[in-house]
Amino acid sequence: MIVADWQAGTVTDAARATPSGRVLTLDIPSWPGNDPGQHLDLRLTAEDGYQAVRSYSIASYGTGPRVELAVDEVPDGEVSPYLVEDVRPGDELEVRGPLGAFFVWTPAQSEPVQLIAGGSGIVPLMAMARAHHDSGSTAAFRMLYSVRSAPDAYYAAELADLVDEHFALHWAYTRQAPDGWAEPAGRISRALLERVTAPASAAPLVYICGPTGFVEAAARIMVGLGHDPARVRTERFGGA
Ligand SMILES: Cc1cc2nc3c(=O)[nH]c(=O)nc-3n(C[C@H](O)[C@H](O)[C@H](O)COP(=O)(O)OP(=O)(O)OC[C@H]3O[C@@H](n4cnc5c(N)ncnc54)[C@H](O)[C@@H]3O)c2cc1C
Repeated sequence: MIVADWQAGTVTDAARATPSGRVLTLDIPSWPGNDPGQHLDLRLTAEDGYQAVRSYSIASYGTGPRVELAVDEVPDGEVSPYLVEDVRPGDELEVRGPLGAFFVWTPAQSEPVQLIAGGSGIVPLMAMARAHHDSGSTAAFRMLYSVRSAPDAYYAAELADLVDEHFALHWAYTRQAPDGWAEPAGRISRALLERVTAPASAAPLVYICGPTGFVEAAARIMVGLGHDPARVRTERFGGA
């Protein structure tokens, strides 16, 4: 595998998106472009030379120097608190990428797609949803987005705007559901996935992304519902 060199990027925007997360926009003049779903490595270097590298999915896609990330703060983490609390427009960051060839969707794919996101796991799926919309793809897309509560959702307004005959969106709330929501808050279950995701008979390509525990639970349920494991693609962000 060829690993690209580190490239310098400048933060051009750092917008609070949720109580625990920000959307960062970077200008990376040497960025070669990326497919929807890919990620990059980001490297921070402290004044004493200590370096830390973490992976971040890319919410944007295509060519051009603008690259969008969304970072959720992991309490006591080494890198994410800096990106969520401290980094400012004008700051420089080093990145390497794009990376990943498997967790990718491109408009050339015409089969049905089921996207399942937990928390900041929306990021690579957002790039796919944007590409699906922008390309005019008629592939049947469905998304299930599980968040702690409504304010914890990234891209809520943009997602609502994407809904049309080819893109269905379902929400799930793990801690607090909005007033009047039909179901109590709770972790995703087999009953929920059976009700709101594409059936195995439709043979969708399934993309699941989020914290490790969420991804493993969702993948297990989807396979239990009859989906071919070879058509269930996962990206784990770490954590319990
Ligand atoms: C391919 C890939 C793409 C990713 N994309 C994103 C993204 O788009 N947005 C995003 O916010 N994060 C993303 N992550 C997670 C990210 O790489 C870091 O792991 C995360 O930001 C925590 O780093 P940290 O240095 O702050 O915490 P660390 O110092 O690495 O960890 C501190 C503690 O938190 C635990 N921990 C680490 N990661 C998580 C987590 N995700 N959830 C809960 N606990 C955790 C660790 O086990 C440790 O106990 C991605 C990870 C991968 C592998």
